[in-house]
Amino acid sequence: MNNLFSIDQEYVAGTYARFPVALVSGKGSLMTDIDGKEYIDMCTGIGVTSFGTADPEWIAAVTAQLGTLQHTSNLYYTKPGAELAKLLCEKTGMKKVFFGNSGAEANECAIKVARKYSAEKKGSDCYTIVTLNNSFHGRTLTTLAATGQEHYHELFQPLTPGFVHVDPEDIDGLKQIVANVKVAGIMIECIQGEGGVVPLSKEFVTAIADLCKQEDIPFIIDEVQAGNGRSGQFYSYMNYGVQPDVVSTAKGLGGGLPIGACLMSEKVQNVLGHGDHGSTFGANPVCCAGAVSIVSRMDDAFLAEVRAKSEYVFNELKGAEGVQDVAGMGLMIGVLTDKPAGDVVKACMEQGVLCLTAKDRVRLLPPLNIPMELLQKAVAVIKDCCAAKEETK
Ligand code: PLP
Repeated sequence: MNNLFSIDQEYVAGTYARFPVALVSGKGSLMTDIDGKEYIDMCTGIGVTSFGTADPEWIAAVTAQLGTLQHTSNLYYTKPGAELAKLLCEKTGMKKVFFGNSGAEANECAIKVARKYSAEKKGSDCYTIVTLNNSFHGRTLTTLAATGQEHYHELFQPLTPGFVHVDPEDIDGLKQIVANVKVAGIMIECIQGEGGVVPLSKEFVTAIADLCKQEDIPFIIDEVQAGNGRSGQFYSYMNYGVQPDVVSTAKGLGGGLPIGACLMSEKVQNVLGHGDHGSTFGANPVCCAGAVSIVSRMDDAFLAEVRAKSEYVFNELKGAEGVQDVAGMGLMIGVLTDKPAGDVVKACMEQGVLCLTAKDRVRLLPPLNIPMELLQKAVAVIKDCCAAKEETK
């Protein structure tokens, strides 16, 4: 194990502060490390393995495709991409899908759609995209510019120009920007994930939707973390009763393989034409086959179960000793604890539960199909770790 740590530290770029754990396998909501220790998975590789690890249906879909056709390029038609696009449109009422490989790329596409739509309608000086402070939209130079957290920007100037940020819930501030600047798009996360699991209010999201409609500004919702059943609805905006013009999605969509997608509504469906955008690996048949297996199982009964499990976690943790606040939606939950979140995560890991942090909160993103008994066990450990007076050694 030490050998693995030292090889990784010597040869892999030092961009990640890893936990001192090497995971080697998993089954469902359980993961096993190199020493044979078992963990309950409450983080799903940061919201990716929607049905847990080594889900049999997902494996069957992926391996069948892998043994048939693993890649073609986008010069040819393939079944999994067309099937997935149809499924996504049927579930959302959107009209067209562009496939990429990650959340950042899905957002890049969304920004290109908004800019081209607005430039064609309002002139080439209409390019500004408004996003929220405390948001996170990715690590490319453009999605970093979109990300409303200064500390991500500092070392990488100059970022792509044409982004302004406004505080969450500040609808007057947003209206002021729209009155003074030619705005090509407004992009939000309904639940700010990396920002600490902060759901926006219904009033604010509805007011943005109304403003976008009134001013003919494409309304983009970043569903990269909150989407694909995570919030208890298929997409988190569905909890708000709004209809965006553009949706970006990734993470949980592929169930563990890299895929991102940008969904376009009727209004913007024809904005991108031949040659306007592309991706060598976009709509990769294996990734799309995995995603079809994930998305096709997210029906109303499944989402109701996600909401029931969410209610259980909220009821258990709200008011528990050492817990100051519980926020989020569905199985995307942020817990504000008396102790530093990192200490709670470390203690949970020692007791066999993998959790995450998001800013000052403990973040929980369990498999959406986690069995109730494992969820109960994990929540009991989290409660213990929040309440324990001394840090677990
Ligand atoms: N958007 C949101 C809301 C995210 O949470 C993330 C990643 O955490 C991204 C975009 C970037 O996604 P990716 O890392 O797949 O590029």
